[in-house]
Amino acid sequence: MSKNHERIHIDEKNLCHLCVSELESIYAELKLTASELEILSMPRRVVTVHFPVRLSNGATKMFIGHRVQFNDARGPSKGGIRFHPDLKVDHVSDLAFLMSLKCAVVDIPFGGAKGGVVVNPKELSRSELELITRAYIREIADYIGPFKDIPAPDVYTDEKVMVWILDEYEHLTREHAPATVTGKPLELGGIRARTYSTSLGGIYVLEEAMKKEAMDKSGVRVAVQGFGNVGENAARILHEMGYKIIAVSDSRGGLINQTGLNIPDVIKHKNTEGRLEGFDTAESISNEDLLVSDCDVLVPAALSDQIDDRNADNIKAKIVLELANAPTTTEADILLFDRSVTVIPDVLANAGGVAGSYLEWIQNLNNDYWEHGRVLEKLKSIMISAYNAVYALCQEENSPMRKAAYKIAIRRILTAERLRGNL
Ligand code: NAD
Repeated sequence: MSKNHERIHIDEKNLCHLCVSELESIYAELKLTASELEILSMPRRVVTVHFPVRLSNGATKMFIGHRVQFNDARGPSKGGIRFHPDLKVDHVSDLAFLMSLKCAVVDIPFGGAKGGVVVNPKELSRSELELITRAYIREIADYIGPFKDIPAPDVYTDEKVMVWILDEYEHLTREHAPATVTGKPLELGGIRARTYSTSLGGIYVLEEAMKKEAMDKSGVRVAVQGFGNVGENAARILHEMGYKIIAVSDSRGGLINQTGLNIPDVIKHKNTEGRLEGFDTAESISNEDLLVSDCDVLVPAALSDQIDDRNADNIKAKIVLELANAPTTTEADILLFDRSVTVIPDVLANAGGVAGSYLEWIQNLNNDYWEHGRVLEKLKSIMISAYNAVYALCQEENSPMRKAAYKIAIRRILTAERLRGNL
């Protein structure tokens, strides 16, 4: 039990700005003490570096990089590295906080981190990006490593960038350390499921939710918003599993066919034409209409703030599987809960990505590489256990899944802090 029972006023400075309203009520319901609130409100480490890189035109430019480790009470920090011209340290810190929650929700022994470089990768060549990545890693090398902080791909970074990170880190430390970074190619210790573990993890959770709702797979109609890495893989796997995918979309618009789309053909069409538009056995549909289309499961897999108080009442799906980050606003979450629509929140639904990274890290540490089937089995077990824990708390408290997931994560983080003697 904490020695400090004084309650303090919850104001915005104590909250992650991406989920202010949810946290406000959760912190109040959990009756957090001042010390607990302080621990949750401050990142443990914020590293900002400035470093010179000579570009291919001969000019030297200074770049800014950040790495924020929000909370590492449960294990080494884990989180993506992004390249973005508008990267701000406060936003990076919020994302690091959410990573701390996500790892705790699925009960993997990681803390949360995020980082990146302020740069527009579209304006640079691959070799310039390589120089920037390596220079950034040289600056933050003391803070990362298999037992400190493990980066992964994020916005505009990919497995090639992860290889540059690994290679630079190993040059500096003079030893092999594949567990320093996840999202690597298979040949350097990556896992086959990496590109689709986010989507597959979400599908495992969806199937568990359907069992609870006594929904039978046959006849279940699914609409997927977004056809990038996450949306396309979700549509593909669900189609392979026998679900009827009635609508898909990308940034330019979508396709609908109530009798079901042939997803492999849609993927072929998209790969040839570079867009979904023009697929011949479907009608066109806008992204707004896709969200309120007549379906049983809605999978937002594109952007944040897609379901809000203007369209929540028109959502027809019984289950919303949030594979995108923050696709539902807080107001919409309440409206959907009141209408008994199950929203499986991002922090659980898309945690298959980081759970897959965890499995990559374990194999790298042990130098013991598993059969693909064993990776999938373990991913499934992590996701289903997490779902069941969240579902049980929802039932107990009659609360939306997001609130239950956040509460579980916060309790786990605070328990770790307490066991360490910090509370
Ligand atoms: P991506 O860039 O590969 O794909 C994004 C897709 O969204 C593209 O098809 C794009 O055309 C589409 N899109 C953009 N604007 C749209 C709009 N207005 N309406 C409909 N579609 C639109 O990105 P991704 O990796 O698939 O990530 C999608 C979401 O999932 C993001 O919110 C991301 O943060 C989240 N997420 C991804 C992972 C992962 O492993 N990639 C893990 C966790 C969460």
